[in-house]
Amino acid sequence: MSKFVFVTGGVSSSLGKGLTASSLGRLLKCRGLKVTMCKLDPYINVDPGTMNPGEHGEVFVTEDGGETDLDLGHYERFIDENLNRNSNTTTGSIYSAVISKERRGDYLGKTVQVIPHVTDEIKDRVLRLAREDVDIVIVEIGGTVGDIEIVPYVEAIRQFRRDVGRQNVCYVHLTLVPYLAPSGEQKTKPTQHSVTELRSRGIQPDVIVCRSDKDISDALKRKISLLCDVPIEAVISAVDADSIYEIPLVLHEEGFDTVVCRTLGIDPDEHPIALGDWEQLVHCVRTAERHVRIGVVGKYVNLPDAYLSVVESLRHAGFHHGVQVQLEWIDAEMVPDLVPGERLHDLDGIVIPGGFGERGIEGMVDAATYAREHGIPCLGLCLGLQVMVVEVARHLAGLDGANSREFDSRTPHPVIDLMPDQADVVDKGGTMRLGAYPAMLAAGSQVAEIYGASAVTERHRHRYEVNPRYRARLEAAGLRCSGTSPDDRLVEFVELTGHPYWIGTQAHPEFKSRPDRPHPLFRELVAAALERAEGREPRLIDIGELDPVG
Ligand code: GLN
Repeated sequence: MSKFVFVTGGVSSSLGKGLTASSLGRLLKCRGLKVTMCKLDPYINVDPGTMNPGEHGEVFVTEDGGETDLDLGHYERFIDENLNRNSNTTTGSIYSAVISKERRGDYLGKTVQVIPHVTDEIKDRVLRLAREDVDIVIVEIGGTVGDIEIVPYVEAIRQFRRDVGRQNVCYVHLTLVPYLAPSGEQKTKPTQHSVTELRSRGIQPDVIVCRSDKDISDALKRKISLLCDVPIEAVISAVDADSIYEIPLVLHEEGFDTVVCRTLGIDPDEHPIALGDWEQLVHCVRTAERHVRIGVVGKYVNLPDAYLSVVESLRHAGFHHGVQVQLEWIDAEMVPDLVPGERLHDLDGIVIPGGFGERGIEGMVDAATYAREHGIPCLGLCLGLQVMVVEVARHLAGLDGANSREFDSRTPHPVIDLMPDQADVVDKGGTMRLGAYPAMLAAGSQVAEIYGASAVTERHRHRYEVNPRYRARLEAAGLRCSGTSPDDRLVEFVELTGHPYWIGTQAHPEFKSRPDRPHPLFRELVAAALERAEGREPRLIDIGELDPVG
């Protein structure tokens, strides 16, 4: 039978609960245990698909087309398993299921209440993940203990231990131990209060993970142990790490996975840990000396979490080549006002990431033009491909005013458009091409060579497509449609013959990159960028003028 770890957070949001949970997943996997993960999000949206990435961060898309919280990206990258739409549950989806059951009469005339109906629904979602082939289900509860919204979840996981047996559940609570400069001390009071709050809901944590910018001393651990009533070895110091990929090693040093195993009645000695591969990865992260500068030209550059998987994919590619990828965040809206070219000139590579809505589009087109004309390696992701197609249409195919119908409903040349079967749909939910779709790659194309394959599958999340009516004209102008859907109706990849790397994909390959297996498109983008970095002439201007954000 599967065992369960519940990870809650206290004191403050953004402590890194997702990364702590992911790191635990990795450590347990390195002990040969089979792990899956899920996130319970206490907000009322049915899924994060409709939420603004500028506020909430990226929407992570699973193979089966689930639009999920960005923490699922960390989970997939750390435990190296594909998750699915059931791996993320929100209050909105719980209530929507409960209300449908009520309307169908499933509750047989009972008064429908938070306890037991909502809590039962929450428990069912977690239990669903406990399959034959899973030893441990790690469940992260979003939000902070003490929030109004989190109460039904805390109650559900409290009941859970009674339902499945004490030895099958481990409660991990993550808190903050702040350092107060004036008194020169680390403070445990917020941790004590947060544990008191959790206890008032009936949960005594088994493990307390203390986030801090300084190591937690043994004396402090003893204090937390005494006041919060956990064994001293279950007080884990999680000090800030230079790279997120070091966190599993830091937590292992502290004995985190050992204490979790013991709580679950798993003998750690029977499951010795094999961390060699992960240590090797961290070694690559630490020792990379060369640098490449990659500019991300997007509209949500004030919150880099909006492009989290893109950033991680670039880092993975860097690890592979032993280089540090230095990111330059370039607000697409600013690009048209730049002195022509100058500020883009110093970049070794450009990524034009996905997005919705018109803001910043002209700047992205300009960046694609600049990259094409100056041989700068450039990767377009989803919207990025669409912008590249508009660029070629306007500047190589002579189609003045070409645009995507998304941004200009009256464009004379809608080179990007809804497909006929979508055009009448007005509802914003459920009309997107979501999840994994296959593509066939043209023999001899750059993408076929990069992937080393003639057929690939990538995850999608978009409504618009390259308009088939313009394909022949675009191809005649030099755009190679090097990957298409198996029925040849949809363009999946474009490239330019003769350019070192100017490639667009209608998909989001960033969702499939793993730290030790960078996605080939990112791997080769960084390879091309490295070539440019090592071969280019001296710098023209100081890149500091770029106003990088984050
Ligand atoms: N807005 C574009 C579309 O809907 C691109 C979406 C994206 O980049 N994910 O097709």
